[in-house]
Amino acid sequence: MTARIIDGKLIAAELRARVADEVARVQRGDGITPGITPGLAVVLVGSDPASQVYVRSKHKQTQAAGMASFEHVLPDDVAQGELLALIARLNRDTAVHGILVQLPLPKTLNTETVINAIDPAKDVDGLHPNNAGRLAGGLAALSPCTPLGCIILTKSVHASLEGMNAIVIGRSNLVGRPLVQLLLNENATVTIAHSRSRELKQLCARADLVYAAVGKPEMVRGDWIKPGATVIDVGINRLPDTDGKTRLVGDVAFAEVSQVAGAITPVPGGVGQMTVACLLVNTLRAACAIHGLPKPAV
Ligand code: NDP
Repeated sequence: MTARIIDGKLIAAELRARVADEVARVQRGDGITPGITPGLAVVLVGSDPASQVYVRSKHKQTQAAGMASFEHVLPDDVAQGELLALIARLNRDTAVHGILVQLPLPKTLNTETVINAIDPAKDVDGLHPNNAGRLAGGLAALSPCTPLGCIILTKSVHASLEGMNAIVIGRSNLVGRPLVQLLLNENATVTIAHSRSRELKQLCARADLVYAAVGKPEMVRGDWIKPGATVIDVGINRLPDTDGKTRLVGDVAFAEVSQVAGAITPVPGGVGQMTVACLLVNTLRAACAIHGLPKPAV
């Protein structure tokens, strides 16, 4: 068997186009309520090259969707008070509906304090405890973007996830835990695995849906996978290549697993593409919620 490749690039482009349509609709207003322009503020502290690439891509895609994009770059040695003051200003700024602080932050800053300072209504990364708690309680919440992207990719293969056996490998606040909650909302039966889990291979072998969010290159092997399963690879690992450059590999041994799985995401070109597209979705949803508009159709 050779798995169907889930084209994250294409699915993300379709999603961005749908967001752009909805942005145009809310900008027009409905004749009674005046139009609004959703706005996203991204805060980058320091000069980490990978973070700079992500922030640039967020800026470009936000503008391409017709939204306002605000970039704030602070030096590596910024005082925490200064960063918190900027967040407070963005919380009050009526042109800003989404605030994203690019992680990781320099070690001198307390990530938890910084995230807690963001207005939960503008927390488009879905990391504020209010949103994490609401998601865990099955309530409406802004959810982290990468897990949202994983669900959309899975639903490009399966219209309904109800009753399916899913395994999520990894339990971070950014990916694994919120993904588990989103899968529960879809009525999947979920196993969550982590570094202390025993018999991971056997646990995977029962799963119809396998999500790998570990950060270990090609850890999930072909003989772990139930034939026909859908495999979503969240991992982004940079390995040295023969020509001195780096190459990206996922947490899944793609060549082996694609011989057994029914559908699989590639790395790159899979989940990574969806993360920024879902950030746009969250910004649009936040803007509509803040202005009391109906939930957008994305
Ligand atoms: P973290 O390091 O925060 O979490 C990794 C998780 O994997 C932990 O829960 C850890 O368990 C678990 N783990 C580690 N080793 C093993 C093992 N041998 N067996 C089973 N579980 C293990 O990483 P993130 O969740 O932030 O990211 C995971 C991967 O996803 C990374 O490669 C990252 O680059 C990528 N990523 C990709 C994104 C995208 O847009 N595509 C966005 C975000 C992340 P424990 O809790 O016990 O320590």
